[in-house]
Amino acid sequence: MKRFKSTNPAQTKELAKKMAALADAGLVITLNGDLGAGKTTFTKGVAEALGVLDRVKSPTFNILNTYDSGRLPLYHFDAYRLEESGAADQGFEDYLGTDGVTLIEWPQFMADLLPNDRLVMTFERTGNGEDERLITIKGLGKVAELEEELS
Ligand code: ADP
Ligand code: MG
Repeated sequence: MKRFKSTNPAQTKELAKKMAALADAGLVITLNGDLGAGKTTFTKGVAEALGVLDRVKSPTFNILNTYDSGRLPLYHFDAYRLEESGAADQGFEDYLGTDGVTLIEWPQFMADLLPNDRLVMTFERTGNGEDERLITIKGLGKVAELEEELS
């Protein structure tokens, strides 16, 4: 597991840019952490680095937003609203680990659909100032190598 300290949103986006540079089609990244922890900020950094032209917005109301204008398709899930309905039978599998980079906020609400090969990220406030975050990254399965490449 790798640990990174971020002291402002730009630093979180810098980490996202490094991640995007290493990303291949099929990469799935789960983003764990409370509201306001920085999950969407990280996703915006990935989108910018992939060259996505559209502005990334939180997909809370439609669960999934897709962006096709970058180097790879970007699939951005916010599964928060699946807590009660569950994630089955909505076709989400078509996006996970296929042709794009998939980032998932609130992944615990689509746990059954997550591939074994994935990057698990956590975002936490440290209590050390309003803007400081501890970000951890753990690569599972075939993605373990990608964790090693990040610095
Ligand atoms: P989430 O998607 O986890 O709910 P957001 O990325 O939407 O979180 O919001 C994070 C908020 O915290 C933003 O307003 C952002 O500007 C702010 N922020 C402050 N410091 C940081 C940091 N180090 N990394 C990311 N966001 C930060
Ligand atoms: Mg969010």
